[in-house]
Amino acid sequence: MADDISLKCTCGEVTGKAAGLSAENTNHIICHCADCRTFVEHLGGRTEPEGGVQITQMSPARIRIIQGTENIRCLRLSEKGLFRWYTDCCNTPIGATPPSAGIPSVGMLHNFIDLPPEARTSVFGPVRGHVFLNEATGTAEQAAAIPKAGLALWVRMYGIVIGWKLRGDARRNFFFKDGQPIARPEILSVTP
Ligand SMILES: [Zn+2]
Ligand SMILES: [Zn+2]
Repeated sequence: MADDISLKCTCGEVTGKAAGLSAENTNHIICHCADCRTFVEHLGGRTEPEGGVQITQMSPARIRIIQGTENIRCLRLSEKGLFRWYTDCCNTPIGATPPSAGIPSVGMLHNFIDLPPEARTSVFGPVRGHVFLNEATGTAEQAAAIPKAGLALWVRMYGIVIGWKLRGDARRNFFFKDGQPIARPEILSVTP
């Protein structure tokens, strides 16, 4: 079964839809990498209780922004970093894409998904795994208590993108127009 879901920033200026999502065509994960954490905290948001951020990987071809495209901004944490998208009306993190129009994938942060947590699980399925636990905050004991993502999840995360690429989703990538990002990426200088 596939569902259309609403997308919305916290203040409601930016709204959209993501069409036809299911557990089969998404990857629901928790990412513990330092960059996701820095990005969310820079925008004034909070991570999950266990330290990571909830992400659903989906094809950007499924995304349609209904209003507020002009509020969408792009950040990078380094010269070669992912493109990290957010809204500048209320600093809602949207998600991250590879820095190339040719690779159709977006890791959508749940901050931008207008669904209660239980409903997210019913659309995307339960969390498939935790990634980048080596960068997790908290004690080694806490990290050890979280099940690590196996190789199968990584294979699935890359494999699903190859399927989208073959289907032509790179030509219907919302975050890029004529091969260029829809907002000019700004490099965030993080003071340690
Ligand atoms: Zn907003
Ligand atoms: Zn991450």
